[in-house]
Amino acid sequence: MQAEIIALGSELTNGEKLDTNSQWLSTELAATGISTHFHTTIADHIDEIVDQLRLSSQRSDLVLITGGLGPTLDDLTRQAMAELIGTDLVLDQESLHTIESMFQKRSREMPERNRIQAMVPQGAEAIQNLHGTAPGIWMQVPRTDSKPDCCIAAMPGVPSEMKPMFFQSILPRLSHESNIIRFARINCFGVGESKTEELLGDITSRGRDPEVGITAHEATITLRIKAMGESVEACEQKISETYELIHERIGEFIFGYEDEELEHIVVALLGQQEQTLATCECGTGGLLSYRFNDVASSANFYAGGTVSTIQSVLNQKAQQTGNNQITLDASDAISLAKATREKYASDFALSIILDVNQSWQESENAPQAFVALAAEGVELVEEIGLTVNRAIAKSRVTKAALNLLRRTLISSADEK
Ligand code: ATP
Repeated sequence: MQAEIIALGSELTNGEKLDTNSQWLSTELAATGISTHFHTTIADHIDEIVDQLRLSSQRSDLVLITGGLGPTLDDLTRQAMAELIGTDLVLDQESLHTIESMFQKRSREMPERNRIQAMVPQGAEAIQNLHGTAPGIWMQVPRTDSKPDCCIAAMPGVPSEMKPMFFQSILPRLSHESNIIRFARINCFGVGESKTEELLGDITSRGRDPEVGITAHEATITLRIKAMGESVEACEQKISETYELIHERIGEFIFGYEDEELEHIVVALLGQQEQTLATCECGTGGLLSYRFNDVASSANFYAGGTVSTIQSVLNQKAQQTGNNQITLDASDAISLAKATREKYASDFALSIILDVNQSWQESENAPQAFVALAAEGVELVEEIGLTVNRAIAKSRVTKAALNLLRRTLISSADEK
């Protein structure tokens, strides 16, 4: 079954409100095995809404509409649905009774214009709204080419009315036809998007079950697995088989699952090994320290940190060497990490040198950053070539530093 979602309301198209209903509905549909192919947002113009309904009802099996069911002149959903099938609106007595009694309960007289909310296109069905006045509408539209009818369900725009209506009255009409869908995510660092695809090979082929997609965000690669099956257990079994295959091919780059970021893993590993970290950053504005300290319980493992500038490190080096024509290199990153470890008396210290002032596009040599790690008997440094914009560079080197520590913590745990 292919679905699409139409969100109605000028407040959505003019930017006053964000259409969160479509996102929520797509997720719920996916969980029952129905994939959503289109999201459309339309302002309150009847002709445009009818045009869209014509298109949507021919190409999709299910069209979910939210919004436009209120009593005011700009609430056009029911009129547009009637126009689509060329019928008039008729009064649904039960809906009228429900709306009148809601007003009575609030000791208010029902304004005449609320009567429109009890009207549905002839041949359509009103759907009870237990949390507001506007009933929903369920309607079937014949399609050409002997395709089965398209089902259109119109629900209120207010999320607290739309969600229960979807669960109580729409979902039961759909779920018996569909499979279950489960999603899982695997997060990787230290490998590019195209290399990941190459290493995974047939695992990412289109049409595979489960499907495996790759997305990249600031150097983190996320593998998105989508499994379909008759039960949750069947989906989970498929996901765990795919996990194994992925681990065999790119296990060294995997650091976490679902919402886990590198900092969560590093804090957990430091906790397990009862070790502490100190940081020294030049050029990242403290992003490494921020990331680390954003994790719950990280304070127990953070010994302290310094946010410095490239210039101050250069000045210090110039003083030490008596030479003003200097650049920073890998050995400076190691020296910073060692000095930081000493200063804060920590088990580990990470340093970052990122020269954000370089004019990257103009420089002949690829701009570079260094991340270094110091620990008892350990001095590690990585040089990172950067071809990305500033904000991404900061994020990327910060992640590279965390990943260096993560790998070191894992290998020291393996040695014990
Ligand atoms: P009502 O009977 O309450 O007027 P309605 O179906 O007419 O219901 P709208 O008037 O279109 O709903 O929207 C009412 C409010 O619901 C909007 O002001 C907005 O706050 C919220 N809303 C509408 N559509 C969406 C959407 N797609 N995503 C998130 N919120 C929405």
